[in-house]
Amino acid sequence: VRSTLEPTAAPRQRAAPTFPWSSALGTLRTFYNVGEWRVPVLRERGAPAFHVLVSTVLSHRSADSATLTAFHKLITRYPSPQALSKADRREVERLIRSVGIARNKAAGLISMASALVDRYEGSVPSDLEELLTIPMVGPKTAEAVRVFAFRKRAIPVDTHIHRVANRLGVVVTKSPLETQFALAGVVPRRFWGELNPVLVQHGQNLCSARAPKCGKCPISSLCDYRAGGTKR
Ligand code: SF4
Repeated sequence: VRSTLEPTAAPRQRAAPTFPWSSALGTLRTFYNVGEWRVPVLRERGAPAFHVLVSTVLSHRSADSATLTAFHKLITRYPSPQALSKADRREVERLIRSVGIARNKAAGLISMASALVDRYEGSVPSDLEELLTIPMVGPKTAEAVRVFAFRKRAIPVDTHIHRVANRLGVVVTKSPLETQFALAGVVPRRFWGELNPVLVQHGQNLCSARAPKCGKCPISSLCDYRAGGTKR
């Protein structure tokens, strides 16, 4: 059965099966274990699925600190899909106003909670196709739930991972969704679970969008961008 997420044409990618994922991810993990670095909102696996859903929706187009503030306020007031499904939209909007497009997200989160209550008795499905039928849930959010709540092997790709993977030269893609498909083809499955938190943290810190600090980067010897091969 062909998944609806499979691309019709494979994105371009380089000869990345030879990329030393074990060494690169291990080096980054060790590097960011020491010192004061920004930490991804989603890092630990085994989190409650409803929390992963809510925090991922809130994080869209929002800084991590704003996401965390909104998440804690919202989940304290509405700790379950049942509670959130009955919430007043204006109150939800007030609780999450630290994030971008709060009005849309408030309405969307209530719809999302209602769908969980109506169709799944308030639980969150782990199946990718089912997740994608829930309001506010796109491929990134669905894969985040599968990785961080259900410990599935998947690769949720945000703008950080998209940027870092292209700079490293392991994929050559134009969008996070394209990168999600491309990475699935070049990263050995045993690394899928740890790929997201490690590369997101690298993108949040040294490999930033505007001015990557390549001189301090512990994996610069593996990087196409550093070698002048990519412009991203
Ligand atoms: S060398 Fe620079 S561009 Fe490459 S991964 Fe490191 S910080 Fe990013």
